[in-house]
Amino acid sequence: MLKFLNQVSNYAKETVQAAKYIGQGLSVTFDHMRRRPVTVQYPYEKLIPSERYRGRIHFEFDKCISCEVCVRVCPINLPVVDWEFNKETKKKQLKHYSIDFGVCIFCANCVEYCPTNCLSATEEYELSTYDRHELNFDNVAMGRLPYKVTDDPMVTPLRELAYLPKGVISPHDLPPNSRRAGLRPEEIREKMEQEQSTEK
Ligand code: SF4
Ligand code: SF4
Repeated sequence: MLKFLNQVSNYAKETVQAAKYIGQGLSVTFDHMRRRPVTVQYPYEKLIPSERYRGRIHFEFDKCISCEVCVRVCPINLPVVDWEFNKETKKKQLKHYSIDFGVCIFCANCVEYCPTNCLSATEEYELSTYDRHELNFDNVAMGRLPYKVTDDPMVTPLRELAYLPKGVISPHDLPPNSRRAGLRPEEIREKMEQEQSTEK
């Protein structure tokens, strides 16, 4: 009988302890419910891609000299440079240029090595189509101005973590014109130039 009573008492103690821990856990859960969600409500809110973001490649037909450097540095030799030799000018003449973004890995090697800067990485990442052949962009499609998150009246643009003021981790409800943490690239350049001029 005594053994049975002991067992009941132990069981009751353990139940109380478990209920206490569950209560503590739930209090943490409910505390999280009082905080503002940090969710970005796509497609009404979008994060502004960083300045070195590698989105869809942009191409300027008039600048291309058909050197094919972009093809050689591409890990899959992807850009199609269609040119013919113009005997009168003794120069290559570009006829057609295309990149298939269904195959591209957006490494932007082509952008880095293009000697005439006719390629550039845009901040456009919404490229989905229903047909994979529509991802094969020709020079006209690649020459279009990219979509900008900050120009879309339907979208509330939000800053990425590295562009938030010091100590802030949520992009919502920022005061206008609040500075990002650290120095801006132009400020770093100014500082370096000042240092160099004082050294001379
Ligand atoms: S971004 Fe990379 S994979 Fe795409 S075309 Fe350029 S070099 Fe090739
Ligand atoms: S590297 Fe630049 S200039 Fe040369 S073919 Fe490619 S896009 Fe044209």
